[in-house]
Amino acid sequence: MSEAARFASRSGIAEIEETDAFAPKFSSDGLIPAIAVDAASGDVLMFAWMNAEALQATLRTGEAHFYSRSRKRLWKKGESSGEVLEVERVLTDCDQDVILLQVVPQGRGAACHTGRRSCFYRKVKYENGAWKLEPVGAERLFDPALVYGKSDGTA
Ligand SMILES: [Zn+2]
Repeated sequence: MSEAARFASRSGIAEIEETDAFAPKFSSDGLIPAIAVDAASGDVLMFAWMNAEALQATLRTGEAHFYSRSRKRLWKKGESSGEVLEVERVLTDCDQDVILLQVVPQGRGAACHTGRRSCFYRKVKYENGAWKLEPVGAERLFDPALVYGKSDGTA
């Protein structure tokens, strides 16, 4: 593995917002939120965390990598499911504390470990005096029990 390119250090607001220096802001536990959207439609597919290593791996390989807080390790999206996210563009926001991936889903096109295209397959609605969830685009593209077996099935 080649030596990882370094990110810029964070100086003033003007530098962070207006120059070409990529200076991502990681939280005190070393993580930055990452949102993956479909490069063609703009639909939000999933949210996960990255540490610096995951961000470096994503930039280097062109495939989405994240950091699992529960398993405490780097993971490549699709490493067990085949649902790799090919990264077309990596963007960051004004203050560089969020990463946005514009991706082309591979495999069956199911970014969610439940087998659905997007993790955001339910909307919140009010019904009979309570807040409920209603499916939106919740069709399964694969059966997670067959794909992941007894693993924890998050990749
Ligand atoms: Zn999901």
